[in-house]
Amino acid sequence: MRYCCPTSIEEAVAILNTDEDARCLAGGATLVAMLNAELLSPSTLVSLRAIADLDGIRHTDSGITIGAMTRHAVVANDQRLNNGLTVVRLAAQEIGHPAIRAVGTIGGAIAHADPSADYPTALLAANAEVEVIGSSGARTVPAGDFFQDYFTTALAHGEMITSIHLANADPGTVSSYFKVARSDGDFAITSMAFCGNFDGSTCTAARVAVGGCASTPLNVTAVDKMLIGAELGSDQVTMAAQALADACDPIDDVRGSADYRRLLVKRLLPRVLQRAIDQGSN
Ligand SMILES: Cc1cc2nc3c(=O)[nH]c(=O)nc-3n(C[C@H](O)[C@H](O)[C@H](O)COP(=O)(O)OP(=O)(O)OC[C@H]3O[C@@H](n4cnc5c(N)ncnc54)[C@H](O)[C@@H]3O)c2cc1C
Repeated sequence: MRYCCPTSIEEAVAILNTDEDARCLAGGATLVAMLNAELLSPSTLVSLRAIADLDGIRHTDSGITIGAMTRHAVVANDQRLNNGLTVVRLAAQEIGHPAIRAVGTIGGAIAHADPSADYPTALLAANAEVEVIGSSGARTVPAGDFFQDYFTTALAHGEMITSIHLANADPGTVSSYFKVARSDGDFAITSMAFCGNFDGSTCTAARVAVGGCASTPLNVTAVDKMLIGAELGSDQVTMAAQALADACDPIDDVRGSADYRRLLVKRLLPRVLQRAIDQGSN
């Protein structure tokens, strides 16, 4: 196996496009485990660690851009991710344990596209955009289009993720994240992310995403609409939670049954809304 360590994005893209079987190596948190288990055997590993342009969080006029190589621990501690973007910071805080958060990267996490992972759900609720680049140039993929199936993304052959862009949220937007896992540091059985607005305890805008309950994180526009005008604790929220559970397509696996996951969806919706209001008042 060849190991390359390019120092620019252009160099990395050139290697990915000359070697059919080359793979990006970010923190190695997942990829190295897969190599050890002989699940993968790429001809070339393209380490991204020496590409400075991929690392760090930048404020721009339009919002916040998180470089693909930014470690979970950095995102988890960045207080600029607040209000409508708190959801992304909270999701980073829930990933694994400190050792994983010191190694794993946001680009690697979303490229792996595990539907039970924390970032995909949070980024879908935040309506994030994934910036990717390949031999024919750069393009932007909305989070809703990026996750296509279990462990499958919209990345084409030879493309890599350069950053994740989070647009400035409307004033007053609040957000939250809630994860249920078997133990601290495990992937989610079910997770839920919310971005939206409230007038008192009445929801005036909503974007909800569910993780661990389908082949990709799930956003259901009809449910978002049902929440508008709904007061916390009302039947309208209960009906929206039922509709969200009905739209899920969970599997039975070692973490929980499909029925249990649907039950969690119904329980989590009121909690994630309450947590968003609480976040807003902090
Ligand atoms: C013990 C343990 C517990 C964990 N718990 C959780 C958890 O609770 N929640 C959670 O969400 N995750 C969890 N993870 C996964 C963790 O978030 C990893 O950070 C994540 O899977 C990606 O790791 P990485 O950034 O090191 O990428 P790597 O392992 O280096 O790469 C992962 C994949 O992404 C590809 N890739 C990497 N960067 C790019 C890029 N810029 N462009 C295109 N492709 C790229 C690689 O080719 C590879 O296919 C856990 C992992 C471990 C080992």
